[in-house]
Amino acid sequence: MWRVVAVRALRGPGAGAGAPRAASGAAAAQLRRRLESELEDIRGAGTWKSERVIASRQGPHLRLAGGGAGACGGGGEEGARCLPPVLCPDFPLSVPAGIINFCANNYLGLSSHPEVIRAAVEALEKFGAGLSSVRFICGTQSIHKDLEEKIARFHQREDAILYASCFDANAGIFEALLTPEDAVLSDELNHASIIDGIRLCKANKYRYKHMDMQDLEAKLKEAQKHRLRLVATDGAFSMDGDIAPLREICQLAQKYDALVFIDECHATGFLGPNGRGTDELLGVMDKVTIINSTLGKALGGAAGGYTTGPKPLIDLLRQRSRPYLFSNSLPPAVVGCASKALDLLMESNAIAQSMAAKTQRFRSKMTAAGFTISGKDHPICPVMLGDARLASVMAEDMLNRGIYVIGFSYPVVPKGKARIRVQISAVHSDEDIDHCVEAFTEVGRKHGALP
Ligand code: PLP
Repeated sequence: MWRVVAVRALRGPGAGAGAPRAASGAAAAQLRRRLESELEDIRGAGTWKSERVIASRQGPHLRLAGGGAGACGGGGEEGARCLPPVLCPDFPLSVPAGIINFCANNYLGLSSHPEVIRAAVEALEKFGAGLSSVRFICGTQSIHKDLEEKIARFHQREDAILYASCFDANAGIFEALLTPEDAVLSDELNHASIIDGIRLCKANKYRYKHMDMQDLEAKLKEAQKHRLRLVATDGAFSMDGDIAPLREICQLAQKYDALVFIDECHATGFLGPNGRGTDELLGVMDKVTIINSTLGKALGGAAGGYTTGPKPLIDLLRQRSRPYLFSNSLPPAVVGCASKALDLLMESNAIAQSMAAKTQRFRSKMTAAGFTISGKDHPICPVMLGDARLASVMAEDMLNRGIYVIGFSYPVVPKGKARIRVQISAVHSDEDIDHCVEAFTEVGRKHGALP
């Protein structure tokens, strides 16, 4: 009886099992009004981000739940739009292509690679669902140590430390490493997680203009008065597909006795002859001191991040880095995915090279068609359109033609620099890419982006 009374008290009168309960009271009502008004402002500003729901595995071809263009005759969940051919086994590959996905960071197509999936299942079976603990209490398994060793070997560094995400790796490193005696110099267009990580530390902060080496040099001169200088940059910038001038950055770092940190989320696994990243691409592997990167993009796409670099730094992070110390260990299945992805990349550079060839195909065909593609040699290919509305209507029309791409406009990118970002993957076929270029050309002509 006491249980029934307790449950009723918790639910409140009349509330059915599982029904949402609104908190009562003036403060809760005031909060609700404020939140609703803020949400209205976001909608009014045209910056509302909605999420399409995918009903299949991540891959070059998708099935979207509910709406969207590209209906096909394939099977699948009730109400799902079917977008074959997919890696999903219930779709025959002979069905003509529906929606082709050009907006994931699945650069190497490993998110649904059968060996990656098998490795995850095996790790799940052998090591369980999760550790119910942080690393230093009761949460380190042999697979975590093995993966850290593999990451360090892949990047040719002394050691590595795993995090739940690269966002966490970026949140942890600056505070653990830098004191008020030190300085950090950060590219103005660095990823939000670097900006937040730097905010958390007490070092002196300098922001240099995007990839502007003159400005970086001026800031380095100014920062000579501090004990230690750390230059922090994305290796590849995800909005523009441009690659940091690491050679020049490393030269300046050497001249002004600074360390170099790079975030390699959009480089690890595919930039450089062996996919080691921006430092390999630009021949400065021995000049970059610290690398942070993600397991959630090219390396299997599950989740997770890491720092790799000098052993004493990694040892210090294990003692001091708050997102590492106070957050749960990576789940074994996630570790299994990333570990297998690294095995595949260390066995052969064929996947990375195939992605590079496809990137080249897309960039050159789009340029020949009359479009301006920002960046160079990177699978992030922003189709520059300028006008926010044009980017939005063209992206929508591309979806109607079976091509899934996303338009970006202010405040995600500067005003007047709206674009549609296309991301190439090693698992796109040449036909997928040609189809995408044809659709862009058609839609571009229709909306006046092309003559
Ligand atoms: N750094 C960069 C440059 C990114 O693009 C991202 C993800 O979007 C992150 C860090 C965060 O990575 P994660 O998804 O592993 O938290």
